[in-house]
Amino acid sequence: MSGFVFSEKPIQIERGEGPYVYDDAGTEYLDFGASYAVTPVGHCHPEVVAAVQEQAADLLYVQASYGNGARDAVYEKLAAVAPGDVDNVWLCNSGTEANEAALKFARSATGRSKVVAAKRGFHGRTMGALSATWKSKYRKPFEPLVDDVEFVAYGDEDALTEAVDEETAALVLEPVQGEGGIHPAPEGYLQAAREVTADAGAAFVLDEIQTGLGRTGSLWACESAGVVPDVLTTAKGLASGLPMGATLVADWIAEDAGPHGSTFSGGPVVSAAAEATLSVLVEEDLPAHAAELGAYFRSELRAADLSAREVRGEGLMVGVEVKRGANHVLKQLALDHQVLALPAGRTTLRFLPPLTVEREHVDRVVDALTDVLGGGG
Ligand SMILES: *Cc1c(COP(=O)(O)O)cnc(C)c1O
Repeated sequence: MSGFVFSEKPIQIERGEGPYVYDDAGTEYLDFGASYAVTPVGHCHPEVVAAVQEQAADLLYVQASYGNGARDAVYEKLAAVAPGDVDNVWLCNSGTEANEAALKFARSATGRSKVVAAKRGFHGRTMGALSATWKSKYRKPFEPLVDDVEFVAYGDEDALTEAVDEETAALVLEPVQGEGGIHPAPEGYLQAAREVTADAGAAFVLDEIQTGLGRTGSLWACESAGVVPDVLTTAKGLASGLPMGATLVADWIAEDAGPHGSTFSGGPVVSAAAEATLSVLVEEDLPAHAAELGAYFRSELRAADLSAREVRGEGLMVGVEVKRGANHVLKQLALDHQVLALPAGRTTLRFLPPLTVEREHVDRVVDALTDVLGGGG
């Protein structure tokens, strides 16, 4: 039964370097999905690989009640790049766990239970995070889920004002909805969410698991929106593909976050990978590069003769809504053009390449798409 929850994939990937992966026959693929944004600095970045190898030889694991240099370095690094005072760091092993912690901390710190989340939102697949996830396909077989979650239309400020009240522990939103189809927050929406939660004494939780780490053109998407949340979650590319998530919280949440823990919280090897990943992101100024290349990518897509409904996104988080099934297009891109990308729902192609990609890589993807989706409209 091994792997039974994943559908059959025709391509067997065995090696990666920069924006490329290679199959078992040595065929090179340009990886514009990066396995769901997991390689912000590219596959097998030499500094990340060296950090992991060195740490693995010293110590594979020690529990978080002991100090450890590799873990301390990640605490410091994340605190240094955190927005505002959201610099109290909890480390875990995945995105869903980061959100799970966010919801627990918010309930504990506010003494309230209600959670407001957005339609089309995605926050993970464990019971708590799943309860704040919209899609019924993900929810139905596992009900009943965690109680007291209310959904509002994403982008609707009045609905927020209506839903977030004195009983609300947390409002949880993605700055750009990823899984839901690459929908950036409308102008002013995140600011409104900030104000409404502050007025109600509720925690504003921003799920930056897909948007964070430079992807949208600033290290965190909330920075370009000019908003500081109370809780920010990150994961995906944080340790370049080793399992790590983090929940960053403001002081008022940290002071009364309640008992929480995890055996593997901030293990030395993943910590070494995260420290190296964050260093490369900052030193190579990859958020600014993502802003520039993302703008180029979207303008080339819009200029190309594609049969598509819309091009959306921010930075190197790019969606192309097509007029037929996304999976069919993705298969053609992969098999005929050796370009890997992802779906976001039934009809949206999702591109989350390493932030290190250059114009030549973007050009190749646009050419491949023009071939597959050519023919105007
Ligand atoms: C991927 C994702 C998650 C879940 O992360 P996992 O590591 O798969 O548990 C949560 N929120 C968002 C926005 C994501 O993109």
